[in-house]
Amino acid sequence: MTTEKGSISIHTENIFPIIKKFLYSDNEIFLRELVSNAVDAVQKIKRLAALGQYNGEVGEPLVQVSLDAAAKTITISDNGLGMTADEIKKYINQVAFSGASEFVEKFKDAKDANEIIGKFGLGFYSAFMVADLVEIQTLSYQEGASPAKWICDGSTEFEISQGNRTTRGTSIILHVNAESEEFLSEHKLQEILDKYAKFLPVPIQFGTKSEQEADGEDEEGKPKYKTVEVPNIVNTTNPIWTKAPADLSDEDYLAFYKELYPFSEDPLFWIHLNVDYPFNLTGVLYFPKLKEDFDMQRNKIKLFSRQVFITDEVKDIVPEFLMLLHGVIDSPDIPLNVSRSFLQADGNVKKINSYITKKVADKLAELFNKDRKGFEEKWTDIGLFVKYGMISEEKFYEKGKDFALLTNTKGEHFTLEEYKEKIKAVQTDKNGALVYLYTTDPEKQDGFIQAAEKRGYDVLVMNSPIDGHFVSSLEQKLEKTVLKRVDASVTNKLIEQDETLESVLSEEQSTAIKGIFEKAITKPGYTVEVIGLSPDDSPVTITMDEFMRRMKDMAKMGGGMSFYGNMPDSYKVAVNGNHKLVAKILASADEAEQSKFAKQAVDLALLSQGMLTGPELTAFVSRSVELI
Ligand code: ADP
Ligand code: MG
Repeated sequence: MTTEKGSISIHTENIFPIIKKFLYSDNEIFLRELVSNAVDAVQKIKRLAALGQYNGEVGEPLVQVSLDAAAKTITISDNGLGMTADEIKKYINQVAFSGASEFVEKFKDAKDANEIIGKFGLGFYSAFMVADLVEIQTLSYQEGASPAKWICDGSTEFEISQGNRTTRGTSIILHVNAESEEFLSEHKLQEILDKYAKFLPVPIQFGTKSEQEADGEDEEGKPKYKTVEVPNIVNTTNPIWTKAPADLSDEDYLAFYKELYPFSEDPLFWIHLNVDYPFNLTGVLYFPKLKEDFDMQRNKIKLFSRQVFITDEVKDIVPEFLMLLHGVIDSPDIPLNVSRSFLQADGNVKKINSYITKKVADKLAELFNKDRKGFEEKWTDIGLFVKYGMISEEKFYEKGKDFALLTNTKGEHFTLEEYKEKIKAVQTDKNGALVYLYTTDPEKQDGFIQAAEKRGYDVLVMNSPIDGHFVSSLEQKLEKTVLKRVDASVTNKLIEQDETLESVLSEEQSTAIKGIFEKAITKPGYTVEVIGLSPDDSPVTITMDEFMRRMKDMAKMGGGMSFYGNMPDSYKVAVNGNHKLVAKILASADEAEQSKFAKQAVDLALLSQGMLTGPELTAFVSRSVELI
């Protein structure tokens, strides 16, 4: 074979400095690209043999990565199908550029290397991100093929000549450049392989490791061992998502979870994904036990394409409300060199997204129907996903409404339908609307909860971070239903019914009482109202309007309600005209005493809601001592 020189057919003087410069940020992907080319080559020879187009020995498939730090080379070699000199020209030299001008035009907005590599089919050329000189040594499987060598120094000039490979397959030898010497480290390469190659379908060997091997017996007949060097295989070739669910036990799923997330608690349950139409997708999604810090738990789903790791940013593939799930998704329909902009535009990705939504909803429905008790036990964790999903995706609401649970202060769970039936008789107001009562803090709102329960009302617990939004969304979705926090007004006004209790006070007495309380309350934002409640109800109740409170809560969570967030808190002080304390105050002729009683009653109300603190609490305590 004669040596042939030529130019790589791209219409630019020197594309490689450009590649290097613009792709520098994630240049570690060179290894992913070259190793997956090697894996492809091995799988191709297997397929050719299966099709009867290759009759030689296929051998044990293997891809080897080796490092020679002294020579500053990294070699990726495989026993795949190899290439002839002509194939090198065809597949390597004719880089898939439609023209340098287009390239230059497009890379201007490219945000990452993937985007450029994906757009221009530059998998192999990513080698030049880290190497000055790249050499290919290859021997094709074709009968009578002779070994070929290709060498290129990062200019557009290449050289093809007789190669030195004696066995079928390809070796890519990278002469690592001065700026990329970080890759001349065993540790670094192992780290990159762990990231991208951990689940590749062909064994990937990187170096060797020591192992103990049986070595006969010593004089006393005890077994002897010797240390031997064995190939270090970095990957598992059959990860669980490639297997049939029927062949897997719970232990397999849990073990895989531990492998992916070594320090995590066991997941609650998992979903095995498996579709082949209208797109191909496999994977396992796990529902984790959620922790307070959500941000730490995002981006835990790993995206693969034919077992090659691509990214753990699956934003467009997985619906936003499921971003806290863990696990893997593998789809050959997502190209290896996937980029963010590609994902957003791709039709398959949208289908995958709605498929996942549906699968998750079906799995939850199944759990609910098969094992309601187990479902209820996990509800605190599952509920976050379900509620978030119902708020953010109409389609999910439609499914979720059948298994979403409401929990009351007694710890009982109800579906939306069941709950409606439960409270209908007692909690329908005079306009025919159902009133759901809820507490955001059972401890602090205990006084109100007890008062409501005394009236035969049921109180729901809505104390998770998402519940504020869930309440609003239920109110929009459920017909003729309002939700009120249990302290939104005095208990017998929460659900307005026809019977109204009149205050026994005359108009003058009411005005007098109002005046006494107004003077006694020195804090801003409190308005006093004298109303008729049962003599057994509290003498004073302090409430915050439901609407105002919700707006303020949303402003706190950054819901764009900052107008409300900036408003001072305002409360209503309802004085029970029928309580005997009021009669006592009216009966007293001593203004100081009247004020003291009023103050005491207001402070007691504040205290029962955890709102009495600081100097006011101290003043209350000394006043109480004095009163005793
Ligand atoms: P892609 O993998 O997307 O086709 P690449 O730039 O990574 O693009 O590779 C270009 C082509 O070079 C491959 O399609 C294949 O035909 C050939 N090739 C690359 N590496 C190998 C290899 N190790 N063995 C055989 N052929 C290879
Ligand atoms: Mg490739």
